[in-house]
Amino acid sequence: MTLTMSAYDDVVARYAPVIGLETHVELGTVSKMFCGCSTRFGSEPNTQVCPVCLGLPGALPVANARAIEATILIGLALNCSIASWCRFARKNYFYPDMPKNFQISQYDEPLCTDGWVDVLLDGVAYRIEIERVHLEEDTGKSLHVGGSTGRIHGSMHSLVDFNRAGIPLVEIVTKPVPGTGALAPEVARAYVTELRGILRSLGVSDVRMEEGSMRCDVNTSLSRVDSDAWGTRTETKNVNSLRSVERAVRSEIVRQAAVLDAGQRVIQETRHFHENSGESTAGRSKEEATDYRYFPEPDLVPLAPDTEWVERLRATLPELPSARRCRLQATWGLSDAEMDALTNAGALDLIEATVAAGASAEDARKWWLGDLSRRANESGVELEELAVTPAQVAQLAGLVTTGRVNDKLARQALSGVLAGEGSPEEVVTARGLEVVSDTGELGTAVDEAIAAAPDIAAKVRGGKVAAAGALVGAVMRATRGQADAQVVRELILARLDQA
Ligand SMILES: [Zn+2]
Repeated sequence: MTLTMSAYDDVVARYAPVIGLETHVELGTVSKMFCGCSTRFGSEPNTQVCPVCLGLPGALPVANARAIEATILIGLALNCSIASWCRFARKNYFYPDMPKNFQISQYDEPLCTDGWVDVLLDGVAYRIEIERVHLEEDTGKSLHVGGSTGRIHGSMHSLVDFNRAGIPLVEIVTKPVPGTGALAPEVARAYVTELRGILRSLGVSDVRMEEGSMRCDVNTSLSRVDSDAWGTRTETKNVNSLRSVERAVRSEIVRQAAVLDAGQRVIQETRHFHENSGESTAGRSKEEATDYRYFPEPDLVPLAPDTEWVERLRATLPELPSARRCRLQATWGLSDAEMDALTNAGALDLIEATVAAGASAEDARKWWLGDLSRRANESGVELEELAVTPAQVAQLAGLVTTGRVNDKLARQALSGVLAGEGSPEEVVTARGLEVVSDTGELGTAVDEAIAAAPDIAAKVRGGKVAAAGALVGAVMRATRGQADAQVVRELILARLDQA
């Protein structure tokens, strides 16, 4: 299926998307959820395990207090109510990377419920309601060997690494989000961006989507614009970048519309998103909650955070992204829409760091939202993945401010920085990009330009000063854009008795 803009516009004119997001976040605790094993990422397989996280008979879990506190902090930051009493539950299913054959999770008694978070797009706020935030343990990790795709199909054998088994995992589930229309993909992305920012400010997780410490499942359904009945939803699993969140929703909207247009029914199922093609394929048909035979975990005592504990945690909440944005918006003097654009481009931290490195807010914004955004888009990467640091962007802006390069030369210098040629200073020196404002050096080029266009020169001499622009242009071309245009203009007018 080809995904063209016109196909998408046509679809959202006839169907109203409803989205929902389930986000799993690995907490950055030192030890696992129910045992003392280390959670360090990237160790030798199966070196961070013990009888509890391997599910050996007789081993008993003990809940990690730091993980519970982190979950309460997340709930508070998302405006949730914190349960005064709740329990863990066993979620029963067989999976080779889950040694107990059940996962300790929470079911009908989650720790945090009924919150919300506002995301802003073009100055319009969309309230995303949070249904629940609960705590559970991660599974191990299967590695399928011998196939071309890394998936189980076609592989020769599989290995299991239990280092991840038992790492505390928080699941944040939104209520269904209707009413976003054509903007559903952007709203989904803006929500995950906002959530990541909140989690990062809380310091509870490193929220690295590419390492899997933050993973999104995206629910999508379509209803006809003239109907109140919601359609059947699908769940696209493990969408592992902000960009992919947006792409996954967009492609699923178009796919479901094609199914409905063909008179068929959308099947309730999980789907796997493929980063390379931007499309998804069907996974398993979706389980019902009853398939998991949930029951309260008998090996753990109930969880009963008292008000004093919760309020003590509330008092430690840091400045959250929404408050920080208000502060920075006022400092930088930006409109709501300008601020939203910058936030949703993922440029807030970068611009703040660039300003901290000495650039003006205006310059920082211009570079990150202009040239650098365009280059990031062209290469299909996030802004922060570009090979340029905020300090280098500040240096580049400084070179323009002091007149050592003009905008055009600065963009050439930026290309050099991105190509790994060094700092802006180094690239300007190495490539000889500095603006020439030495009147002696420019004099010859000015004389040549005047000699080559005697009719224009005559006009200027006769008082038509505006005609000098053509001569300035000729000198700029002759010096490959490196002349200081103001100095050139002054030289020309002086030569032609108009100074
Ligand atoms: Zn363990």
